[in-house]
Amino acid sequence: MNSNLKNPVPHYINGEFVMSLSGETFANISPYSNEELNQVSQGMKEDVNAAVLAAKTAFKKGEWGTFKLNERLKYIYKIADLIDRDIDQVAKLESLDTGLPISQTKKMVGRAADNFRFYAEMVKNRMTGEAYHVDDEFINYTRQKPVGVAGLITPWNAPFMLETWKVAPALATGNTVVLKPAEWSPLTAHKLGEIIHEAGLPQGVFNIVHGFGEEAGAALVAHPDVQLISFTGETKTGSEIMRNGADSLKRYSMELGGKSPIIVFEDCEFDRALDACVWGIFSFNGERCTANSRLFVHESISERFIAALKERVGNIIVGDPSHADTEVGPLIHRDHFENVKRYLTIASQEGCEVYSGQIPEHLSNGNFVPPTLLLNVRNDMKVAQEEIFGPVLTVMTFQTEEEVIELANDVQYGLAGYVWTNDMKRGHRVAGAVEAGMLWVNSQNVRDLRIPFGGSKASGIGREGGHYAFEFYTEMKVVHVAVGDHHIQQFGKKNKASSIHTKA
Ligand code: NAD
Repeated sequence: MNSNLKNPVPHYINGEFVMSLSGETFANISPYSNEELNQVSQGMKEDVNAAVLAAKTAFKKGEWGTFKLNERLKYIYKIADLIDRDIDQVAKLESLDTGLPISQTKKMVGRAADNFRFYAEMVKNRMTGEAYHVDDEFINYTRQKPVGVAGLITPWNAPFMLETWKVAPALATGNTVVLKPAEWSPLTAHKLGEIIHEAGLPQGVFNIVHGFGEEAGAALVAHPDVQLISFTGETKTGSEIMRNGADSLKRYSMELGGKSPIIVFEDCEFDRALDACVWGIFSFNGERCTANSRLFVHESISERFIAALKERVGNIIVGDPSHADTEVGPLIHRDHFENVKRYLTIASQEGCEVYSGQIPEHLSNGNFVPPTLLLNVRNDMKVAQEEIFGPVLTVMTFQTEEEVIELANDVQYGLAGYVWTNDMKRGHRVAGAVEAGMLWVNSQNVRDLRIPFGGSKASGIGREGGHYAFEFYTEMKVVHVAVGDHHIQQFGKKNKASSIHTKA
């Protein structure tokens, strides 16, 4: 065990760091060494019940609901400031826990602080209602009210950033929260709990229950006092959550898997397309929902593009995630590592050429998969259709725009897509035709926080980000106010006033 780590990592319930009621714990394993880092409290139904009760009480009876907006938002700004203060510590913990290279976790943690500031601003300036004067008889107006207890369930691939992406809008809009972080990456979620505790939020407003999806996650989903579930994770888990939560009629936001195409036309800026393609699949160890995992390159430039890809793959620095120059680190967990390796075996069986970089000998204890190209791929192969979620790029060629659009869309997912061409008419056309929630033209994956994020098809339901989050985290209430004496039917009254004036 690393002596700097809390052991076991506790839950955070009703303003206190507590162990599981059962006393059960599970091991958190280092992706780099496969040794135990620490133990984690294993949340069960009774722990979830305690957290939901705390959140419900804080929502219905606590001061959180009566604060003036500026008072509430002071806490949100404070959380952002504390994240900034601890940025190095959080980034180190994230790399230790997930195997993501430190240069990349540092950027993500900075973005996490931005999420809180952004939502504080957004709630102040964009959470506005509508008002209508209906003739001179009524005013109708809308208000956005917090929904209640928000259940947030997050994955391990960019844990801190994705957690804050949900926690910030949920709290800023006035909900209370129970967060169930991924069991393979509990450390920075705990750190977020410490930060929020230090920010002094009233007790019960924010809670964390660690544990496995099938236990803690499932209990949160089924709980009748949880009004909404915001989930990011695998597509099949998303379906299961919707099934399990059906009886308690919740609202869901689903950010699910992807198998996103990058389409490289012959007239693109070759070097920029290459940089973006390599970054888009090999950054974050390839464990990235929006990774451009299916490359379609025009056949007239394919030989040159593939040769350049091979050279890059051979040069990528694979190593200790805590080193500043590491570009690709170990995969999160042995099970996931085995799964990615299984896809490389399938690729060979399907007839692909598997072209991999090297893993240095001294890294053999970690979950290292070398950056890999799968060549001679057909789009109907398993490796082109299923999400591998590792540093593995399937490479295919095409001849015409019509053909590549059909190939790009022939997949169950629809999260993201990338188009590289200097013909802007074609860029817009193809961006419009690819079936995905988010398209980038001549750009790597960069996103302004004001713009919605989310996928279509099997990649998700709903959108996060920007003011789109308000549709999910708030309840729209309509108030109709009579400002004149409109006619009201007089059922049962003798000598009624005669009028044909009616309003529905
Ligand atoms: P996962 O679905 O295995 O787990 C995600 C979370 O769900 C974890 O906290 C887990 O404990 C919990 N969970 C599992 N079963 C559950 C159940 N029955 N009830 C309630 N909770 C349950 O996903 P993962 O392996 O952690 O993450 C990788 C996946 O996430 C990939 O498919 C990736 O594409 C996807 N992802 C999508 C986005 C996006 O924005 N679309 C972003 C990041 C990751």
